[in-house]
Amino acid sequence: MKWRRFVSLPILAVLILMDIVFYGTVFIFLDDWVGLHSSIGLTNVVIFTMLTFFTLFSFFACVFTDPGDVPYGYFPDIEHSDGSDQESRESEALTKYCDKCSAYKPPRAHHCRVCRRCVLKMDHHCTWINNCVGHRNYKAFFLLVLYATMSSVYSTVIIVGCGFYNDWESFGTIRLKTFYITSGVMISLLSLTLGTLLGWHIYLLTHNMTTIEYYQGTRAKWLAKKSGQIYKHQYDVGVYKNFTMILGPNMRKWLWPSASSHIKDGICFPTVRDSL
Ligand SMILES: [Zn+2]
Ligand SMILES: [Zn+2]
Repeated sequence: MKWRRFVSLPILAVLILMDIVFYGTVFIFLDDWVGLHSSIGLTNVVIFTMLTFFTLFSFFACVFTDPGDVPYGYFPDIEHSDGSDQESRESEALTKYCDKCSAYKPPRAHHCRVCRRCVLKMDHHCTWINNCVGHRNYKAFFLLVLYATMSSVYSTVIIVGCGFYNDWESFGTIRLKTFYITSGVMISLLSLTLGTLLGWHIYLLTHNMTTIEYYQGTRAKWLAKKSGQIYKHQYDVGVYKNFTMILGPNMRKWLWPSASSHIKDGICFPTVRDSL
């Protein structure tokens, strides 16, 4: 079943793009700049291959890891709900009911129209991995963005560096110059796009927020400001704890995409209220 998820044009496009960037960076630009048989050339090949490997590893982990299904027969805990009386607790429980699935959903879970099911701690549906980004594969997704940005920036340095190194006066034909300039512009734009996405997810990670919660929080913040209160995201329990909840308690496993034994059931999450 999981393999079927792999049959998708965007996934094929990502794999082809990674191939092109790797081949071009190593066998065209790096070779042209310092040569692949020099010690500096070989060192760069090893570093760039490692970065590409981890990008690919994270990509496969994102595609094949299920983001998290709501357990069959799940029912919200009305007794320990936030509401002050029975009526408000019951009405709050109703907001956690998914009409499409005809079932209750835990806090932070949302219905994905593409996957046609509720996904635990849903962040967004990503076309490029043909999968939802949610509770169980968010770490792999974050690392995918991190490694892809690092690879792209590394490639940009090599391509632009190679362009500056060449003697443009006596250097090749107009067609070759156009190829160098186009490659430099394309890879710079890719780095900028990935870097922006990485910055966004670092912000979300440090605040223990999903993309959906960010947009919900914008409205809640506005409402709180109107009534003279200060809004605080209820799952933001401090930067370090937020990091360890996603990347794991062991720092040595933070950068390993498949190290996910720390990930809990996705039904309950510590809140600011717990730490008071
Ligand atoms: Zn649903
Ligand atoms: Zn989805």
